[in-house]
Amino acid sequence: MATLNLVLMGLPGAGKGTQAQMIVDDFDIIHISTGDIFRSAMKNETEMGLKAKAFIDKGELVPDEVTDGIVKERLSKDDIAKGYMLDGYPRNLEQANALETISSELNRDVNAVINIHVDPEILVKRLSGRFICRTCGATYHKLYHMPKVEGTCDVCGGHDFYQRDDDKPETVRNRMDVNMKMNTPLVDFYEEKGLLHTINGDQDIEDVYKEIKSILDKL
Ligand code: ADP
Ligand code: AMP
Repeated sequence: MATLNLVLMGLPGAGKGTQAQMIVDDFDIIHISTGDIFRSAMKNETEMGLKAKAFIDKGELVPDEVTDGIVKERLSKDDIAKGYMLDGYPRNLEQANALETISSELNRDVNAVINIHVDPEILVKRLSGRFICRTCGATYHKLYHMPKVEGTCDVCGGHDFYQRDDDKPETVRNRMDVNMKMNTPLVDFYEEKGLLHTINGDQDIEDVYKEIKSILDKL
């Protein structure tokens, strides 16, 4: 297949950002994380960022019209012609239907959905140990994925790390509930379209990646 247009699915903490980093390096496609776009807008205190913050702080989804608009704008850019990987979008059936319309209008239809499956109990623990490079956004974990040199980001060499506000236990529980409710219909939607590939995300980061790569290599 000439162009890879992917959706990366999975509950919060399933490993989407971690795997996305490796996928875009290998397959040279554009990574679009709606969560990253919102965090950047919040940091820059844009109008959209301030609007999104009220929802994100509570672990709720940002309204569809805002999120769909962001994705439409990003998928319209020329660099997407090489292929894209959506991470954290769509998150509900309405967004999945919006993506159908957007991608077909742009002639950039999704050709595979990778669903990283991990038991929600494990995810709650994972999120409490997550920390992120402030310079480039690379994701680490206190127990499972430390930088090779302590205090130095493997990707950009930065030394400044932070924990996400929405990774605190009270917010994590609500985020998990909100996302679990939406997840099953979304899985069914892509299963019916014959696009879904479900991966066991409860194994070492490299082994998860091997499974994903073997699927993408065959497309
Ligand atoms: P998501 O983008 O799906 O929310 P992340 O990629 O940020 O998830 O991963 C959540 C946390 O779990 C991070 O701290 C990450 O380092 C860690 N992590 C990711 N994949 C695994 C894995 N297979 N095993 C253990 N920890 C993992
Ligand atoms: P993430 O980085 O994917 O965990 O997203 C962080 C937060 O951003 C979520 O808890 C939501 O509040 C918001 N968000 C990210 N993607 C979406 C989306 N597709 N729809 C609505 N809200 C989103």
